[in-house]
Amino acid sequence: MYDLVVVGGGPAGLMAAGTAAREGGRVLLLEKMEKPARKLRITGKGRCNVTNDRPAGEFLAKVRQGASFFESAFRAFDNRATIRFIESLGVPLVCERGGRYFPASGRAWDVADALVSWAVRCGVEIRCHAAVASLRLDGDCVAGVKLVGGEMVAARAVLLATGGVSYPATGSTGDGHQMAFDAGHRIEPLRPALVPLEVEVPAGLKGLALRNVALTLRVDGEVAEERFGEMEFTAEGVVGGAIVLQVSRTAVDALADGRRVQAVVDLKPALDEAKLRNRILRETAELGAGAPLRVLMQKLLPEQLRKAIASVAGLALSRPLGGLTAAEVSRLIAVLKGWSFPVRDYRPFTEAIVTAGGVDLSEVDPQTLESSKVRGLYFAGELLDIDADTGGYNIQIALSTGYLAGMSAVKR
Ligand SMILES: Cc1cc2nc3c(=O)[nH]c(=O)nc-3n(C[C@H](O)[C@H](O)[C@H](O)COP(=O)(O)OP(=O)(O)OC[C@H]3O[C@@H](n4cnc5c(N)ncnc54)[C@H](O)[C@@H]3O)c2cc1C
Repeated sequence: MYDLVVVGGGPAGLMAAGTAAREGGRVLLLEKMEKPARKLRITGKGRCNVTNDRPAGEFLAKVRQGASFFESAFRAFDNRATIRFIESLGVPLVCERGGRYFPASGRAWDVADALVSWAVRCGVEIRCHAAVASLRLDGDCVAGVKLVGGEMVAARAVLLATGGVSYPATGSTGDGHQMAFDAGHRIEPLRPALVPLEVEVPAGLKGLALRNVALTLRVDGEVAEERFGEMEFTAEGVVGGAIVLQVSRTAVDALADGRRVQAVVDLKPALDEAKLRNRILRETAELGAGAPLRVLMQKLLPEQLRKAIASVAGLALSRPLGGLTAAEVSRLIAVLKGWSFPVRDYRPFTEAIVTAGGVDLSEVDPQTLESSKVRGLYFAGELLDIDADTGGYNIQIALSTGYLAGMSAVKR
């Protein structure tokens, strides 16, 4: 008989299990993959953005769903606690642009291995290749779990930390949602979040990275989101990068509702229209009236974008600058300041950084993360209907909820 069985060895499960064991509980962690924390090992492009140093109010504003529910878990184990904790495990961190914390080694594996070793040192028994098939209930109390293969494990409390359904090759395939549903929980519909978008743009943009651009997302013509930063055409007709991922959640919901979604990119946000016009007139005077538009575009845009933007403005790159009418120059300026293209669709869960939706928060106690349906059943991490922007917020959600759930389960 274990005091606590934790299902899932991601950051949420490891944190919960280690915390409960350190408090004296007899804890078993069951992980279905060959090793724990597979997803954590590929986070932050292999560098693992563990948290963000924004003050509490600003941090919680980055949580797109479930911020008020999450607040108690964040207060119990906040971003400062995470920085202290990871560093105490012998993994020094560095703070980068935007308050994002990474291991100084630049290796996500260091964070994952340190968390696993810590949990073991705290006394957690970790079993890999151990996929949980279902919960065992005794009336309205949890009694343990049943593994794939039939083995039963008895426990006073069970904590589901099976993650979302994005990047399923890492082991997060939604098993916990099914178990929660079978136990009587409502599951908010799952959607990819922080996901690249499929767009209608001219061919030939694959690999193009744009820095310091402003992106506006319009839904049915209305401005829904505005972001400034980097975006990247990761494949033909697919756009990703920080600012696209940040607006993707709104785009996904709007597309799922059948609404019209448009991306509008300001390629020259540092120049207002008048300044851009002056710049174009100045460049034209310097280059001479006989120079083709191609030469002016070389001064304004990266190579891959020149033909596309000229063609959206209805201009051939071979046109002599002196022959452009005032209306044509205005058209070019309008496209440079507001290159607009339809968002057709979003990429699947296999490419989504996080999953939106999950265990309905109204059926979970925010102070303990215990189920209101089944006594002794706890939840932590991405399985819950909480998700946030990029920037280290999602791992912090996993660690904070893992800490609070582990602590509550062992106190019980
Ligand atoms: C490519 C990528 C990059 C990311 N980068 C960042 C970043 O830099 N910063 C950030 O904050 N967030 C990042 N995220 C998001 C972050 O990784 C997740 O939000 C976080 O890992 C969620 O933690 P979790 O413990 O809830 O779930 P997971 O990490 O998904 O762990 C769940 C675990 O449960 C196990 N499991 C599932 N079902 C069962 C079962 N039936 N029995 C036993 N075990 C089971 C799985 O194998 C898995 O190990 C990134 C995500 C991706 C995909």
